Amino acid sequence: MPIYEYRCKKCKKEFSRLLLNPKEISEVKCRFCSSPNLTKLLSSFSLHQTEESRLSSLDTSKTRGDNYYKDSRNIGLWAKKRMRELGVDLGSKMDEIVEKGRTGKILNEYTE
Ligand SMILES: [Zn+2]
Repeated sequence: MPIYEYRCKKCKKEFSRLLLNPKEISEVKCRFCSSPNLTKLLSSFSLHQTEESRLSSLDTSKTRGDNYYKDSRNIGLWAKKRMRELGVDLGSKMDEIVEKGRTGKILNEYTE
């Protein structure tokens, strides 16, 4: 969900906006005073949460259907969870592997 968080430089209030159209991003104004003078706050937290919730809802004992991998965000997720279950912490290396998988270069030796 493309939710962006802003802080108004004029009235210092914070608010979030759901932006479905990327063109709207440059047109965002303060919800309270209509000032266009805004600071965009980091929204990576909510993105992170999304992956976390995907990870926790993922059951590694079940077979994934073909449709599962049509969503590229699911690629590497299973491997990541499996590693976690095995107590393997690859840290940034894991993200590197996942990234490779998402760009079509999944390495089977890491997932099986
Ligand atoms: Zn304001």
